[in-house]
Formats: sequence, structure tokens, C-alpha cells
Amino acid sequence: MLGLSIGKILLTAAVIAAVFYGWKWLSRVQQLGAATRKKVNKKTGNGAPPPANEAVDMVQCPACGDFIAAHGARSCGRDDCPYPG
Ligand SMILES: [Zn+2]
Repeated sequence: MLGLSIGKILLTAAVIAAVFYGWKWLSRVQQLGAATRKKVNKKTGNGAPPPANEAVDMVQCPACGDFIAAHGARSCGRDDCPYPG
């Protein structure tokens, strides 16, 4: 019968199932990782400063025109600078 035995067919089916469920599991893990990173980014937006390897939003100081990090902005020293410090 074409060299196919029940054992070979079952083994092939098992390999296909393992690849299929492995692929599903991997994509689910990646989705969870992305969702967790989004949550962490939202949390750090109003709390701790973002990790050093990530981009930081910059705002322009209306007094001197310099661009400074939006989070934890410090005064440039001019009297009309709106930032604390
Ligand atoms: Zn300034």
C-alpha cells in the first residue's frame, strides 16, 4: 500500500499537529508580549521615566525655544520659563 503504514500516517499527523499548535502558541506569546509592553509604556507615561533605550517625547520651551524632554522638564533658568526647578 504505497509504503504507507498506520504508524507513518499517525507520525506525520502528529508532526503536523505539533507544528500547527507550536505556531499558534508562539504567536500568542508574541501577542501577549506586545500587549504587556503597551501596558508598561502607558504606565510609565505618568509615572517613572521611560527606559533609556526608548524614544522620549520632546517639547519646545516657550521661553527660550530649546527642546527638552516632556517628562521631567526642568526650567531653563529664565524668569518666564513655565517649567519647575
Ligand atoms: Zn526655557
